[in-house]
Amino acid sequence: MTELASTQPCPVCASPTRALGVKQGGFSARAFMLRQCQACAFAYVANPLENYAEIYDEKYYRGQGPDAMLDYLGELEHPATTVRQYEWRGIQDIVHSLVPLTPHTKWLDYGCGNGGLVRHVRAASAAQIEGFEEGWIADQARGHGIPILTRDELAARAGTYDVVSAIEVIEHIPDPVAALRMIRTLLKPGGLLFLTTGNAEPYRNKLLGWSYVIPEIHVSFFEPDTLARALTLAGFRPELRGAMPGYNDVLRFKILKNLGARSTSFVERRLPWPLLCYAADKRYRVTAHPIGWAV
Ligand SMILES: [Zn+2]
Repeated sequence: MTELASTQPCPVCASPTRALGVKQGGFSARAFMLRQCQACAFAYVANPLENYAEIYDEKYYRGQGPDAMLDYLGELEHPATTVRQYEWRGIQDIVHSLVPLTPHTKWLDYGCGNGGLVRHVRAASAAQIEGFEEGWIADQARGHGIPILTRDELAARAGTYDVVSAIEVIEHIPDPVAALRMIRTLLKPGGLLFLTTGNAEPYRNKLLGWSYVIPEIHVSFFEPDTLARALTLAGFRPELRGAMPGYNDVLRFKILKNLGARSTSFVERRLPWPLLCYAADKRYRVTAHPIGWAV
């Protein structure tokens, strides 16, 4: 068994991987084994939970699960005051800097959670956007009139999208290349995949100490070169664009979320955001990840 584990191939590039160590779940009483590829640096939870319906339940989306910082219901019910609006605005600006947003632009937000980005983009741009999500949160979003596709509806739209976004999605998926290949089938040739996920590179030799490693839910960890390789394998041309217009708003949301702030306020609006975002990105390098163009 030990022998088998020591030769486990990398889920991205199939090269040999090595054990990084064990991380105790903070929410479940379970030990998770982390491994890393010696060729592409992909790091992953080798024994992930797979009972998705139980993990991503109502409690999870209410912030009563492994990620206590989540406030999906609050964001759905209070879009004008949630700090999440900075992320929505930032993502729209980033995508708009790469692709024209016209009435003919078809955009899918894959793994859209509560559909907040979908609702924001529908109100603030001309693009046609819809979301894909499953489970309890998808029904909540539909209840607010947000168009959330089922898996069958999504399959029927293969090859029709100009843009797919996947915001903090890929780290939840144990086979990320398969997920990227599936997303590739949804796009037109030349279409854009914009995704966000944590950057493992600043934590290269201390991955177990990275707060992003919440092993019940986050199971796949990428450095920018690793993500570029995965994108290439899935039929994308990766491109490094760095800090695009809008990224400061995405960073602003991340900083506020990690501070535990849920609503915008007079106080936070007075903070020197360009400086704070510069400092945060210098440390966490979230803007270093590539985007993907469907080949
Ligand atoms: Zn690898």
